[in-house]
Amino acid sequence: MTKRDYYEVLGVGRGSSEEEIKKAYRKLALKYHPDRNPGNKEAEEKFKEATEAYEVLRDPQKRSQYDRFGHSGLKGGFQGFDFQGFDLSDALRAFMRDFGSFGFGDLFGERTASRRGPRKGPDLQVRLKLSLEEIAAGVEKTIKLKRFQGCPTCGGTGGKLRTCPTCHGRGEVRKVSQGIFGQFVNVSTCPTCGGEGRVIDQACSTCGGEGKVKAASTVTVKVPAGVTTGNYIPIKGGGDVGPRGGPSGDLIVLIEEKEHPNFQRQGDDLLLELPVSIPQAVLGDQVEIPTLEGKVNLKIPAGSQSGMLFRLRGKGIPHLQRYGRGDLLVRIMVWIPNRLGPEERALFQRLSQMEEVKPPKEDRGFFRRVKEALGV
Ligand SMILES: [Zn+2]
Ligand SMILES: [Zn+2]
Repeated sequence: MTKRDYYEVLGVGRGSSEEEIKKAYRKLALKYHPDRNPGNKEAEEKFKEATEAYEVLRDPQKRSQYDRFGHSGLKGGFQGFDFQGFDLSDALRAFMRDFGSFGFGDLFGERTASRRGPRKGPDLQVRLKLSLEEIAAGVEKTIKLKRFQGCPTCGGTGGKLRTCPTCHGRGEVRKVSQGIFGQFVNVSTCPTCGGEGRVIDQACSTCGGEGKVKAASTVTVKVPAGVTTGNYIPIKGGGDVGPRGGPSGDLIVLIEEKEHPNFQRQGDDLLLELPVSIPQAVLGDQVEIPTLEGKVNLKIPAGSQSGMLFRLRGKGIPHLQRYGRGDLLVRIMVWIPNRLGPEERALFQRLSQMEEVKPPKEDRGFFRRVKEALGV
């Protein structure tokens, strides 16, 4: 499916301000929000589309990326977009993050009433630190966490239950009022049972009627190769269980990359700084260098300048959910000895008399041209 232009989706101009974008999104989100359009697939799609557009245009970095390269500029690395796809829960979370504080209930009035029955438990978040080696290969990790699970004593019911006497199990109460445009029905959550439709007759002694207890638990998460700090993996049902038989929330696994002793990551490329001796740079050499998958040989040509960059294709990080991988860039740094014995000192003194070892006097552009040739 081809994506519509994000500015077109929100109905704003390309030069619009952050405030205008936020306003335009808010209007659309309130119109198409699933709570206002229950069961309406088209509205849900429109809500997701608007939220995705908003998520890009509200973020200056993503917006400039999008302005320059269009939709393809956002592939490969921006959280939520090309990763697990932008699903409804992402969209709802984004909306809640920026507009939830206004009071969702105030915006929608009847929101809570539409959520009858057992309530869903909250989402949990954990950080998962990964080494570059794990990121390059992809990894399956077992996460230990404490979360609410169904109480084993009462089976999650919370004890003996009976139908709520206030709402008779409906979970909501209706009040008919007279407004200037006619009669309307005001629906709100039942104050007695909190929308569950049932009340506790006799609370379970283990969980005190909540139907849930906190316990140690493990969750297995499969991390694809090529992730980066800021990516997240949602695990449906990995969060806290809801009260009295409510479904579990999700677990959001946030990826964090550990610093590597050898490599610096630049997108999907890796940079390695390799110290070499003066004779190695002058005469050339064959050296062993580390990669994420073991050692390989690198040929240093005679006459290599300090700072020169060698590109080893395909030795970087795999692209996330795309074919191919980045490169390993090796920058050689000529090491200058700072403690010399009498013999070495004599050798360097002899060398210093020779014309061939001196940098060219007239040619100031030499290093610039070396850099240009290397594309550094
Ligand atoms: Zn219990
Ligand atoms: Zn009730």
